[in-house]
Amino acid sequence: MKIAALGEVMVELAPHSVQGAGTALMAQSYAGDTYNTAVYMARSGVQVSYVTLLGDDPFSEQILQRMRGEGIETSAIEQLPGRCPGLYAIQNSADGERHFTYWRGESPARELFADSEARARLRSCLLPMDYLYLSGITLAIMAPEAREHLLAFLVAFRGQGGRVAFDSNYRSRLWQSRDAARATLTAFLPQTDIALLTFEDEQSLWGDRNAGRCLDRNGRYRLAELVLKRGADSVLLQYDGELSAIDVPPVADVVDTTGAGDAFNAGYLAARLQGAEPESAVCAGNRCAAAVIRHRGAIIPAAQFCLQVAS
Ligand code: ADP
Repeated sequence: MKIAALGEVMVELAPHSVQGAGTALMAQSYAGDTYNTAVYMARSGVQVSYVTLLGDDPFSEQILQRMRGEGIETSAIEQLPGRCPGLYAIQNSADGERHFTYWRGESPARELFADSEARARLRSCLLPMDYLYLSGITLAIMAPEAREHLLAFLVAFRGQGGRVAFDSNYRSRLWQSRDAARATLTAFLPQTDIALLTFEDEQSLWGDRNAGRCLDRNGRYRLAELVLKRGADSVLLQYDGELSAIDVPPVADVVDTTGAGDAFNAGYLAARLQGAEPESAVCAGNRCAAAVIRHRGAIIPAAQFCLQVAS
């Protein structure tokens, strides 16, 4: 089973140590929601390809090297001359909250599916895949016309037996308006087989009063699998006409929940691609997320991941 994840990888700057008076030493790494999921799926033994656009600067080259080092296939990635990837920096405020600032307006990943020649190449790379994975962030950064092309491709991909997994990952600041986000997700959910949603995001986009309302609302898309993540609360799974609540094992030593949902998705999808039933895939998702939230950052060292997820 092969899966391709589509989206954006950014340069990340995270505070390493505070130097006082508004200055800090920053640790530089790379992250992005679908990229994080791709990394953890690859570490879980799945054949993963990543699809994005990068530049030809040293950061883009290092991103490619990192991906290859993780065993992620990069041949579908296009490099645009003279461009460089998006960047974000994290600041810790006095009350312990993390504040994210982004410089991604010029990110080459925004041109995904925009150019007709590149699109034709991508289609031939993606059609042989068994699964595609994308998120609301992938869609938010794309031009509206490119989204239409992607949607038409998903229809064709599913028509020939491919399956689509989608995390709505609603980030209000990436959208022109809440209505634009709603309209886009409403168009893409009917082309989704596995929806991996987070209740908090659903609530902020749709105003759902409770998880029941959220499940009812999404019922209209006839999703084969609907997974609703709720932080430390049980994961709700709607599959084969049945609703189940699967407990999240408590994690005593939570350090940083960044990337928890991305890691969960990786554990879930890897298990499904390897033949597990949805309920045990949820448990695999929980295990994967638990390992990641015990460490700082969205991508934890491979050795720690293997040790904690395999044990
Ligand atoms: P997101 O990162 O998308 O906001 P959630 O916060 O819902 O997603 O978390 C995704 C998954 O991460 C949960 O379903 C659970 O498996 C795990 N998780 C998140 N927070 C905790 C926690 N405090 N304790 C244990 N597991 C957690």
